[in-house]
Amino acid sequence: MIALKNITVVLVNTAHPGNIGASARAMKNMGLNRLTLVQPKDFPSGVAVGRAATAVDILDSAIIVDSLEEAVANCGLVICASARPRKIPWPMLNPEEVAKKVTNEMDFTNIALVFGREDSGLSNEELQLGHFHVQIPAEEKYSSLNLAAAVLLICYEIRKATSKKNTDEKEKDNELWDQEFATVQQVEHFYQHLEQVLIDIKFHDPENPRQLMQRMRRLFGRIRLDVMELNILRGILTNIEHSMEDKKLR
Ligand code: SAH
Repeated sequence: MIALKNITVVLVNTAHPGNIGASARAMKNMGLNRLTLVQPKDFPSGVAVGRAATAVDILDSAIIVDSLEEAVANCGLVICASARPRKIPWPMLNPEEVAKKVTNEMDFTNIALVFGREDSGLSNEELQLGHFHVQIPAEEKYSSLNLAAAVLLICYEIRKATSKKNTDEKEKDNELWDQEFATVQQVEHFYQHLEQVLIDIKFHDPENPRQLMQRMRRLFGRIRLDVMELNILRGILTNIEHSMEDKKLR
């Protein structure tokens, strides 16, 4: 049994309970067991149980939440699976690169693998919560896989990479970092703080946002702030606020 316990599969707004069951089965086949469902349309469901076969335990322990933000709040690495490229391109990995990243980080941070709706995938706001996107290479005009098939393929790559890592520990040290990565929740608080200060200094007009905050998210998402860096940035923002107040008092 490979310990893939820090990895959560997140299914967003799934319409067909059969896909939830089949995804749970695929996860169990590959040694993953944490499932979070964001507003599933029909769950709990006998159809899901039927398709899960002996992976019912994963359905029983699935966590149900109201938003993707809530589902990934405590995660330091979030990877969103998307069948097609979006308006603002995001750092993109292929399944093998995802697997390598996940196996390098899974011992020291919570990781979420996020999958979208059967009909419309993930919204732009949801995709922007991810540090990376993954696209499974497929036929150009027929690139959308069944949800559970996409889950299986990504989990399979992670399993393969984990087995390889066990025999090849050298690779592990390359990507270790001296600080913990900030979680999604910590970074969300930073974005709120940043947006407020940008408004206060009149750099940002929420009536005419021009994708400023999306671009800030992509910038900081690409860097992947660690906790120390995040605290420094929050400190800078707080000092900007204080010096503005001081000026007002004078
Ligand atoms: N029609 C939707 C695709 C939905 S498929 C769209 O155009 O976005 C349901 C989910 O399975 C997707 O949201 C995605 O998370 C995953 N998926 C399907 N095909 C994929 C692919 N080729 N690469 C990555 N993820 C894929």
